[in-house]
Amino acid sequence: MTASIYLKRAGLNVLLLEKNVPGGQINMSSKIENYPGIISIDGPTLAMNIFNQIQELKIDYKYGNVLEIIDNGSLKTVKTDIESYQTKKILIATGRTPKKLNLEDENKLIGRGISYCALCDGNFYKNKDIAVIGGGNSALEEAIYLSNICKKVYLIHRRDQFKAEAILQERLKEKNNIEIIYNEEIQKINTKEDRLVSINLKNTRLEIAGLFIYIGYEPDTKFTNKLNINKENDYLLVDNNSMTNIDGIYACGDVIKKQVYQISTAIGEGANAASNIIKSLQM
Ligand code: NAP
Repeated sequence: MTASIYLKRAGLNVLLLEKNVPGGQINMSSKIENYPGIISIDGPTLAMNIFNQIQELKIDYKYGNVLEIIDNGSLKTVKTDIESYQTKKILIATGRTPKKLNLEDENKLIGRGISYCALCDGNFYKNKDIAVIGGGNSALEEAIYLSNICKKVYLIHRRDQFKAEAILQERLKEKNNIEIIYNEEIQKINTKEDRLVSINLKNTRLEIAGLFIYIGYEPDTKFTNKLNINKENDYLLVDNNSMTNIDGIYACGDVIKKQVYQISTAIGEGANAASNIIKSLQM
Protein backbone atom coordinates (compact mmCIF):
# COMPACT_ATOMS: atom_id res chain seq x y z
CA MET A 1 0.00 0.00 0.00
CA THR A 2 2.91 2.35 0.79
CA ALA A 3 4.48 1.76 -2.62
CA SER A 4 1.13 2.37 -4.37
CA ILE A 5 0.82 5.72 -2.61
CA TYR A 6 4.25 6.81 -3.88
CA LEU A 7 3.65 5.45 -7.40
CA LYS A 8 0.24 7.08 -7.74
CA ARG A 9 1.51 10.40 -6.45
CA ALA A 10 4.21 10.24 -9.17
CA GLY A 11 1.42 10.09 -11.75
CA LEU A 12 1.76 6.41 -12.69
CA ASN A 13 -1.05 3.93 -13.35
CA VAL A 14 -1.04 1.58 -10.39
CA LEU A 15 -3.08 -1.54 -9.72
CA LEU A 16 -3.06 -2.86 -6.18
CA LEU A 17 -3.92 -6.57 -6.07
CA GLU A 18 -4.92 -8.21 -2.79
CA LYS A 19 -6.12 -11.75 -2.09
CA ASN A 20 -7.14 -11.15 1.49
CA VAL A 21 -7.71 -7.92 3.40
CA PRO A 22 -5.67 -4.74 2.84
CA GLY A 23 -2.77 -4.65 5.29
CA GLY A 24 -2.25 -8.41 5.41
CA GLN A 25 -0.40 -9.55 8.48
CA ILE A 26 -0.90 -6.21 10.34
CA ASN A 27 -4.55 -7.19 10.70
CA MET A 28 -3.52 -10.01 13.02
CA SER A 29 -1.67 -7.75 15.45
CA SER A 30 -3.61 -6.81 18.56
CA LYS A 31 -1.36 -3.92 19.53
CA ILE A 32 1.37 -1.94 17.78
CA GLU A 33 3.46 0.30 20.01
CA ASN A 34 6.70 0.70 18.07
CA TYR A 35 5.50 2.53 14.97
CA PRO A 36 6.76 6.11 15.31
CA GLY A 37 4.15 8.83 15.58
CA ILE A 38 1.47 6.55 16.97
CA ILE A 39 1.75 5.66 20.65
CA SER A 40 -0.50 2.63 20.46
CA ILE A 41 -2.83 1.29 17.78
CA ASP A 42 -4.42 -2.04 16.92
CA GLY A 43 -3.43 -3.65 13.61
CA PRO A 44 -6.78 -3.49 11.78
CA THR A 45 -7.11 0.26 12.53
CA LEU A 46 -3.61 1.00 11.20
CA ALA A 47 -4.31 -1.11 8.08
CA MET A 48 -7.63 0.68 7.54
CA ASN A 49 -6.00 4.11 7.97
CA ILE A 50 -3.50 3.26 5.22
CA PHE A 51 -6.27 1.82 3.06
CA ASN A 52 -8.26 5.05 3.45
CA GLN A 53 -5.25 6.84 1.96
CA ILE A 54 -5.38 4.41 -1.00
CA GLN A 55 -9.03 5.24 -1.56
CA GLU A 56 -8.48 8.97 -1.11
CA LEU A 57 -5.86 8.82 -3.90
CA LYS A 58 -8.27 6.76 -6.08
CA ILE A 59 -5.72 3.99 -6.50
CA ASP A 60 -7.13 1.10 -8.53
CA TYR A 61 -7.68 -1.74 -6.03
CA LYS A 62 -8.82 -5.23 -6.99
CA TYR A 63 -9.29 -8.59 -5.39
CA GLY A 64 -7.17 -11.32 -6.94
CA ASN A 65 -5.12 -14.30 -5.87
CA VAL A 66 -1.96 -14.19 -7.97
CA LEU A 67 -1.27 -17.66 -9.38
CA GLU A 68 1.58 -16.89 -11.75
CA ILE A 69 3.84 -14.18 -13.11
CA ILE A 70 5.09 -14.53 -16.67
CA ASP A 71 8.14 -12.52 -17.63
CA ASN A 72 8.01 -11.57 -21.33
CA GLY A 73 10.81 -9.03 -21.01
CA SER A 74 9.64 -5.43 -21.12
CA LEU A 75 5.99 -6.48 -20.65
CA LYS A 76 5.04 -8.89 -17.89
CA THR A 77 1.82 -10.81 -17.22
CA VAL A 78 0.24 -11.26 -13.81
CA LYS A 79 -2.31 -14.08 -13.75
CA THR A 80 -4.81 -14.17 -10.91
CA ASP A 81 -7.63 -16.62 -10.24
CA ILE A 82 -9.94 -14.09 -11.90
CA GLU A 83 -8.08 -12.06 -14.54
CA SER A 84 -4.74 -11.46 -16.25
CA TYR A 85 -2.93 -8.12 -16.34
CA GLN A 86 -0.06 -6.81 -18.46
CA THR A 87 2.39 -4.41 -16.92
CA LYS A 88 5.88 -2.97 -17.26
CA LYS A 89 6.84 -3.31 -13.61
CA ILE A 90 5.76 -5.59 -10.80
CA LEU A 91 6.30 -5.11 -7.09
CA ILE A 92 5.83 -8.24 -4.99
CA ALA A 93 4.79 -7.45 -1.41
CA THR A 94 2.98 -10.65 -0.51
CA GLY A 95 4.38 -10.95 3.00
CA ARG A 96 4.30 -14.12 5.05
CA THR A 97 1.83 -16.61 6.48
CA PRO A 98 1.97 -18.23 9.93
CA LYS A 99 4.05 -21.38 10.29
CA LYS A 100 2.33 -24.54 11.46
CA LEU A 101 3.57 -26.93 14.09
CA ASN A 102 2.73 -29.81 11.74
CA LEU A 103 1.03 -31.79 14.47
CA GLU A 104 -1.45 -34.52 13.64
CA ASP A 105 -4.93 -33.00 13.20
CA GLU A 106 -3.55 -29.42 13.26
CA ASN A 107 -5.28 -28.47 10.01
CA LYS A 108 -8.52 -30.22 10.94
CA LEU A 109 -8.71 -28.31 14.23
CA ILE A 110 -8.28 -24.80 12.83
CA GLY A 111 -11.39 -23.00 14.10
CA ARG A 112 -12.05 -25.92 16.46
CA GLY A 113 -9.49 -25.02 19.09
CA ILE A 114 -6.45 -24.08 17.00
CA SER A 115 -5.79 -20.53 15.89
CA TYR A 116 -2.97 -18.40 14.51
CA CYS A 117 -4.73 -15.09 15.26
CA ALA A 118 -5.58 -14.00 18.81
CA LEU A 119 -7.24 -10.82 17.61
CA CYS A 120 -9.57 -12.77 15.28
CA ASP A 121 -10.42 -15.68 17.59
CA GLY A 122 -9.55 -14.61 21.14
CA ASN A 123 -13.13 -13.79 22.08
CA PHE A 124 -14.23 -17.39 21.45
CA TYR A 125 -12.15 -18.33 24.50
CA LYS A 126 -13.50 -15.78 26.97
CA ASN A 127 -12.94 -16.99 30.56
CA LYS A 128 -11.43 -20.25 29.33
CA ASP A 129 -7.95 -21.74 29.70
CA ILE A 130 -5.79 -21.58 26.60
CA ALA A 131 -2.16 -22.05 25.57
CA VAL A 132 0.15 -19.96 23.37
CA ILE A 133 3.19 -21.57 21.70
CA GLY A 134 6.34 -19.60 20.85
CA GLY A 135 8.96 -17.34 22.34
CA GLY A 136 9.17 -14.41 19.91
CA ASN A 137 7.51 -10.99 19.88
CA SER A 138 4.29 -12.38 18.42
CA ALA A 139 3.85 -15.09 21.07
CA LEU A 140 4.46 -12.71 23.97
CA GLU A 141 2.39 -9.86 22.59
CA GLU A 142 -0.57 -12.12 21.87
CA ALA A 143 -0.26 -14.02 25.17
CA ILE A 144 -0.56 -10.65 26.95
CA TYR A 145 -3.56 -9.72 24.80
CA LEU A 146 -5.24 -13.09 25.47
CA SER A 147 -4.60 -12.82 29.22
CA ASN A 148 -7.12 -9.95 29.27
CA ILE A 149 -9.83 -12.19 27.79
CA CYS A 150 -9.08 -15.72 28.97
CA LYS A 151 -9.07 -17.16 32.47
CA LYS A 152 -5.58 -18.61 32.21
CA VAL A 153 -2.88 -18.52 29.55
CA TYR A 154 -0.11 -21.11 29.42
CA LEU A 155 2.84 -19.73 27.46
CA ILE A 156 4.85 -22.68 26.22
CA HIS A 157 8.34 -22.17 24.85
CA ARG A 158 10.78 -24.80 23.62
CA ARG A 159 13.82 -23.13 25.26
CA ASP A 160 14.46 -21.45 28.63
CA GLN A 161 14.92 -17.97 27.15
CA PHE A 162 12.58 -15.80 25.13
CA LYS A 163 13.61 -14.20 21.86
CA ALA A 164 11.07 -11.38 22.35
CA GLU A 165 11.93 -7.74 23.21
CA ALA A 166 12.81 -7.02 26.86
CA ILE A 167 9.82 -4.65 27.25
CA LEU A 168 7.41 -7.50 26.43
CA GLN A 169 9.16 -9.86 28.81
CA GLU A 170 8.77 -7.26 31.57
CA ARG A 171 5.09 -6.78 30.77
CA LEU A 172 4.57 -10.53 30.92
CA LYS A 173 5.66 -10.55 34.56
CA GLU A 174 2.81 -8.18 35.46
CA LYS A 175 0.21 -10.73 34.32
CA ASN A 176 -0.73 -13.10 37.08
CA ASN A 177 -2.88 -15.35 34.90
CA ILE A 178 -0.02 -16.22 32.52
CA GLU A 179 1.95 -19.33 33.43
CA ILE A 180 5.23 -19.72 31.57
CA ILE A 181 6.30 -23.24 30.72
CA TYR A 182 9.89 -23.39 29.45
CA ASN A 183 11.68 -26.26 27.70
CA GLU A 184 8.49 -27.92 26.56
CA GLU A 185 6.96 -28.94 23.27
CA ILE A 186 3.57 -30.34 22.34
CA GLN A 187 3.64 -34.10 21.84
CA LYS A 188 -0.01 -34.66 21.06
CA ILE A 189 -3.33 -32.87 20.71
CA ASN A 190 -6.34 -34.57 22.28
CA THR A 191 -9.83 -34.05 20.93
CA LYS A 192 -13.42 -34.66 21.92
CA GLU A 193 -16.22 -34.38 19.37
CA ASP A 194 -13.73 -32.94 16.86
CA ARG A 195 -12.64 -30.10 19.16
CA LEU A 196 -9.33 -29.64 20.93
CA VAL A 197 -9.73 -30.37 24.65
CA SER A 198 -6.18 -30.89 25.89
CA ILE A 199 -2.54 -31.20 24.88
CA ASN A 200 0.18 -33.55 26.01
CA LEU A 201 3.58 -32.03 26.76
CA LYS A 202 6.60 -34.24 27.53
CA ASN A 203 5.74 -34.59 31.22
CA THR A 204 2.27 -33.22 31.69
CA ARG A 205 -1.16 -32.82 30.16
CA LEU A 206 -2.91 -29.45 29.95
CA GLU A 207 -6.70 -29.17 29.75
CA ILE A 208 -7.24 -26.21 27.42
CA ALA A 209 -9.98 -24.99 25.12
CA GLY A 210 -7.69 -23.20 22.68
CA LEU A 211 -4.18 -23.34 21.28
CA PHE A 212 -2.66 -20.24 19.67
CA ILE A 213 0.41 -20.99 17.56
CA TYR A 214 3.00 -18.21 17.12
CA ILE A 215 6.16 -19.94 15.93
CA GLY A 216 7.10 -17.57 13.13
CA TYR A 217 6.10 -17.10 9.53
CA GLU A 218 7.00 -18.29 6.05
CA PRO A 219 7.04 -16.17 2.89
CA ASP A 220 4.24 -16.36 0.38
CA THR A 221 6.16 -16.93 -2.88
CA LYS A 222 4.69 -20.12 -4.38
CA PHE A 223 3.33 -18.16 -7.35
CA THR A 224 6.93 -17.34 -8.40
CA ASN A 225 7.94 -21.00 -8.70
CA LYS A 226 7.94 -21.00 -12.51
CA LEU A 227 9.96 -17.76 -12.66
CA ASN A 228 13.73 -17.90 -12.62
CA ILE A 229 13.76 -15.67 -9.55
CA ASN A 230 16.47 -15.79 -6.88
CA LYS A 231 15.30 -16.96 -3.43
CA GLU A 232 16.81 -18.17 -0.20
CA ASN A 233 14.58 -20.47 1.87
CA ASP A 234 11.67 -19.15 -0.22
CA TYR A 235 12.45 -15.49 0.68
CA LEU A 236 13.00 -13.28 -2.40
CA LEU A 237 16.46 -11.75 -2.80
CA VAL A 238 16.60 -8.09 -3.79
CA ASP A 239 19.34 -5.51 -4.41
CA ASN A 240 19.59 -2.01 -2.90
CA ASN A 241 17.03 -0.79 -5.42
CA SER A 242 14.54 -3.42 -4.15
CA MET A 243 14.83 -5.23 -7.49
CA THR A 244 15.02 -9.01 -7.83
CA ASN A 245 17.38 -10.66 -10.34
CA ILE A 246 14.62 -10.21 -12.95
CA ASP A 247 14.65 -6.79 -14.59
CA GLY A 248 11.44 -4.94 -13.73
CA ILE A 249 10.34 -7.27 -10.90
CA TYR A 250 10.78 -5.74 -7.46
CA ALA A 251 9.95 -6.99 -3.96
CA CYS A 252 9.61 -5.48 -0.49
CA GLY A 253 8.36 -6.16 3.03
CA ASP A 254 8.26 -9.49 4.83
CA VAL A 255 8.53 -11.50 1.61
CA ILE A 256 12.20 -10.54 1.11
CA LYS A 257 15.30 -11.93 2.81
CA LYS A 258 16.43 -9.26 5.31
CA GLN A 259 17.50 -8.60 8.89
CA VAL A 260 14.50 -6.84 10.44
CA TYR A 261 10.82 -7.74 9.96
CA GLN A 262 8.87 -4.76 11.23
CA ILE A 263 6.04 -2.56 9.98
CA SER A 264 8.47 0.39 9.92
CA THR A 265 10.99 -1.48 7.75
CA ALA A 266 8.31 -2.83 5.39
CA ILE A 267 6.96 0.68 4.89
CA GLY A 268 10.47 2.03 4.23
CA GLU A 269 11.12 -0.73 1.70
CA GLY A 270 7.82 0.03 -0.04
CA ALA A 271 8.91 3.65 -0.44
CA ASN A 272 12.36 2.55 -1.67
CA ALA A 273 10.93 0.12 -4.23
CA ALA A 274 8.43 2.69 -5.53
CA SER A 275 11.09 5.42 -5.84
CA ASN A 276 13.32 3.10 -7.87
CA ILE A 277 10.43 2.03 -10.09
CA ILE A 278 9.62 5.71 -10.72
CA LYS A 279 13.28 6.44 -11.57
CA SER A 280 13.56 3.46 -13.91
CA LEU A 281 10.44 4.55 -15.82
CA GLN A 282 11.83 8.06 -16.23
CA MET A 283 15.07 6.82 -17.81
P1 NAP B 1 10.00 -15.40 15.54
O1 NAP B 1 10.65 -14.16 16.00
O2 NAP B 1 10.58 -16.16 14.39
O3 NAP B 1 9.85 -16.35 16.79
C1 NAP B 1 9.32 -17.64 16.65
C2 NAP B 1 9.35 -18.32 18.01
O4 NAP B 1 8.75 -19.60 17.87
C3 NAP B 1 10.78 -18.54 18.53
O5 NAP B 1 10.83 -18.28 19.89
C4 NAP B 1 11.02 -20.01 18.22
O6 NAP B 1 11.84 -20.66 19.17
C5 NAP B 1 9.65 -20.61 18.30
N1 NAP B 1 9.51 -21.75 17.40
C6 NAP B 1 9.83 -21.83 16.08
N2 NAP B 1 9.53 -23.04 15.58
C7 NAP B 1 9.02 -23.75 16.62
C8 NAP B 1 8.52 -25.07 16.73
N3 NAP B 1 8.49 -25.92 15.70
N4 NAP B 1 8.08 -25.49 17.95
C9 NAP B 1 8.09 -24.65 19.02
N5 NAP B 1 8.55 -23.37 18.97
C10 NAP B 1 9.01 -22.93 17.77
O7 NAP B 1 8.47 -15.15 15.10
P2 NAP B 1 7.45 -13.99 15.55
O8 NAP B 1 7.44 -13.83 17.01
O9 NAP B 1 6.18 -14.31 14.87
O10 NAP B 1 8.05 -12.70 14.90
C11 NAP B 1 8.28 -12.67 13.48
C12 NAP B 1 8.93 -11.33 13.12
O11 NAP B 1 7.99 -10.28 13.29
C13 NAP B 1 10.13 -11.01 14.02
O12 NAP B 1 11.09 -10.36 13.23
C14 NAP B 1 9.53 -10.09 15.05
O13 NAP B 1 10.47 -9.21 15.62
C15 NAP B 1 8.49 -9.34 14.24
N6 NAP B 1 7.42 -8.90 15.14
C16 NAP B 1 7.60 -7.73 15.78
C17 NAP B 1 6.68 -7.27 16.68
C18 NAP B 1 6.94 -6.00 17.38
O14 NAP B 1 7.87 -5.30 17.04
N7 NAP B 1 6.18 -5.65 18.38
C19 NAP B 1 5.53 -8.03 16.94
C20 NAP B 1 5.37 -9.25 16.29
C21 NAP B 1 6.34 -9.68 15.39
P3 NAP B 1 13.40 -20.28 19.36
O15 NAP B 1 13.41 -19.02 20.17
O16 NAP B 1 13.93 -21.48 20.06
O17 NAP B 1 13.93 -20.10 17.96
